[in-house]
Amino acid sequence: MKIALFVLTLSFLSFSHEAHVQKNSGIESIKRAYAEVYADFLIKDFDRLLDLKLAFRDSSSILNTSAYAKILSSRSYIESRKPLNHKSNRSFNILEVDRAGLYAKVVEEIDNGALRIQPNSRNFNTYKSNNEPVIYPSTSRAGNVTGNTFPKNTWALTFDDGPRGNRTKEIVDNLYARGLKATFFMLTAEAKKYKTSAKYVVDSGMNVALHSYTHPDLNKASSSKVEYEITTAKKDLENLLGVKTSVFRLPYGSGMHTKKLRDTIAKNNYVHIFWNIDTLDWKDKNPQSVLARVKKQMKLTPKHSGVILFHDIQSKTVISSKLTMDYLINEGQKVCTVEDVIALQNGKPNDCK
Ligand SMILES: [Zn+2]
Repeated sequence: MKIALFVLTLSFLSFSHEAHVQKNSGIESIKRAYAEVYADFLIKDFDRLLDLKLAFRDSSSILNTSAYAKILSSRSYIESRKPLNHKSNRSFNILEVDRAGLYAKVVEEIDNGALRIQPNSRNFNTYKSNNEPVIYPSTSRAGNVTGNTFPKNTWALTFDDGPRGNRTKEIVDNLYARGLKATFFMLTAEAKKYKTSAKYVVDSGMNVALHSYTHPDLNKASSSKVEYEITTAKKDLENLLGVKTSVFRLPYGSGMHTKKLRDTIAKNNYVHIFWNIDTLDWKDKNPQSVLARVKKQMKLTPKHSGVILFHDIQSKTVISSKLTMDYLINEGQKVCTVEDVIALQNGKPNDCK
């Protein structure tokens, strides 16, 4: 009890100091800390729901649930705010000092954001099962891939938000050492900043894809911002690396049902790539728990195939993605780039073996 009081006192001091120094940005960083608490709660719930689905052999996609949309919304919420600039904020239970009801407000804002993100509606993944769709840039469902219609036992590993220095390089090395290829959804701004790593991805024969210029939630962006984040980002990334890109992924998967965004994606000759396995590695720093989450979701996919989402900017992802690579190999699964699976499904030449 004494210790709890001491910690509480410390944290009150931290908050008042924070508020004094940062004024308006202080409240934003405290909101972010609350959002982190809520995101942890949501992920625990997600894992419980996965266990239930497995127990009841319920194969409806967990990524179509509002619980999952809330996770995406919480990430967008967290990343659009500055972190508390002292390290002590993780050492106490932040809910104990929520006197102003701010936590409830943050939860409400994140839940409302989830309604806007609408990650993976059924409209886009109910292809006729025995007649594979031809995939091409389009605002119709032919222009969106979730992984649910991939051939049996075929998986695409995807790495978002990079490149980032040695993390990206280590992941590329792990893939290369196993004779695997993956798709890297890069941010043009990061590719400029970490050009050596970006080149390393290209030179290792990996598949380069676009994930916007700076990773904003594009569903609430102006037309000129959307142009910059997709059209200009494509041009600059391709010029920087000397490669062509053919697939794109919206930041947070947000806005797949927004006409302006789908039009811009199709106009740039891009197929939009969602995912059907979320590692949640941006929040979960335990590689074993990430692998367990991947395995469960793999079992729940309609054809035991799909697109796996990682983030190569996370240090622990080097380990969790390596565990996943070895698991896929040990299970005798095919691992291909997104572009190769699309070529395969369109009856075009490909390296998906
Ligand atoms: Zn992203």
